[in-house]
Amino acid sequence: MHQFLPFAWFGGQIVPFPEATLSVATHALHYGTGAFGGMRALPNPADANEILLFRADRHARRLSQSARLLLTELSEQRIHESIRLFLQANRPTTPVYLRPFVYTSDLGIAPRLHDIQTDFLIYGIELGDYLSPDGVSCRISSWTRQEDRSLPLRGKISGAYITSSLAKTEAFKSGFDEALLLNSRGKVSEASGMNLFMVRDGVLITPGVDQDILEGITRASVLELARDLGIPTLERAVDKTELFVADEVFLTGTAARVTPVRRIESTDLATDRPVMERLRDRLTAITEGRDSAYDHWVTRVRLSD
Ligand code: PMP
Repeated sequence: MHQFLPFAWFGGQIVPFPEATLSVATHALHYGTGAFGGMRALPNPADANEILLFRADRHARRLSQSARLLLTELSEQRIHESIRLFLQANRPTTPVYLRPFVYTSDLGIAPRLHDIQTDFLIYGIELGDYLSPDGVSCRISSWTRQEDRSLPLRGKISGAYITSSLAKTEAFKSGFDEALLLNSRGKVSEASGMNLFMVRDGVLITPGVDQDILEGITRASVLELARDLGIPTLERAVDKTELFVADEVFLTGTAARVTPVRRIESTDLATDRPVMERLRDRLTAITEGRDSAYDHWVTRVRLSD
């Protein structure tokens, strides 16, 4: 069963998690007019008074931008401050996933974003491996990734996740672990909640930001890390058949971290994944605060002064 952290941030204050509840008439519940974030928080193994957050500045910026796309305002500073108070109240002792959420909190009908109240909440949940670290099988979805002209894809907008949900369940029901979605131009976009990378002839390739992807923070970090390590990178349109002949294919995301793809449709991929393994090992060390060269990617939240 789900293990939630004991306190939530709700209505501008800390409340016991079971008391953080909403009305059935909440606008966002009906229209998908919310936007969320997702961050991993790790207790520092070397310091019990400290929680490590991977790229908290990027996460706060994306959430603040998502709020702007919903025509409301949520400052990065307010996000950081609420997260700090949230962590200090909960004092997690195991790795947790934080879910900040900005949403239209008014009651009643009529889809709109004007003349409406919004609110911001955070809750936390224990999260182990979202996908098997040994590798996943993927189906090419019959669902197409949305287009930026019909939905603001730079934000993590709740309503957009209907497509992810349909694609994930379609994959699951047909015996696969995960779905890969093509965009409306027939190019590879991303998985249901992860960005996609492939390696061909030593070059690390990922669909560009013009391919209707969510601009993943793990994706940006993997690209930056690869460049620093001298691995050639390319952001470009990817065709479906390239995936079948790639040397390596893997997915990245906050929940999934770096997850190898072992099969796509009926094609088994090679199990030798030197580029992915190098990047994954380094990223793990960074997120755990063990890599001083990338210490600026880690925010350290003190639980008490
Ligand atoms: N694409 C989608 C649709 C997602 O929901 C996520 C998870 N946030 C990602 C990609 C990966 O983004 P990130 O690395 O920032 O978690």
